[in-house]
Amino acid sequence: MTEPNMSCLFDAGRLLRAIEFAAEKHRDQRRKGSEASPYINHPIRVASLIANVGKVEDLNVLIAAVLHDTIEDTQTTPEELVRLFGTTALEVVLEVTDDKVLPKQVRKQRQVEHAPHLSTSAKVIKLADKIVNIQDICNQPPSGWTAERKQEYFDWAANVVDGCRGVNTRLENHFDQALMDARKKLASTPPQDFS
Ligand code: ZN
Repeated sequence: MTEPNMSCLFDAGRLLRAIEFAAEKHRDQRRKGSEASPYINHPIRVASLIANVGKVEDLNVLIAAVLHDTIEDTQTTPEELVRLFGTTALEVVLEVTDDKVLPKQVRKQRQVEHAPHLSTSAKVIKLADKIVNIQDICNQPPSGWTAERKQEYFDWAANVVDGCRGVNTRLENHFDQALMDARKKLASTPPQDFS
């Protein structure tokens, strides 16, 4: 029997620990979409896109992707992330964390303004995050979202992503395709009749 590749196992272990940690932190949360899927599906999909579409092999990026919403949306502290996953992963998570003290519109504007100044790792996570969100809004829209609201989200996501370009062509192309599909679907959906 051949010896297992220990560095590979070590990497898988760290990544699985991050998934375990994020699953625990997000355990009571659901996505806003009509299917209200468990929240953890979201960061897992973001990390999977980065690995499988973006072909990114940097473990710290994948770990930060799994953890990307823990500080923003759960009780997780930066100290916990440093202790368990190291400074590099924490720094990337902090880069993609919105300041929830600010009003929503200000936060959204800041994302557009900050995008070009993010590190490559943070840009990659933003790209994948926006792909997953656009696909979710398109395929299982949150209840009560009008066509205008979806349109607004798509436009805003496109602006954020414009600031993240130049780091991963595969993910950028994947975003463009997802956005085109979402806009097409929106255009072909007849307006709802509320009369
Ligand atoms: Zn996210």
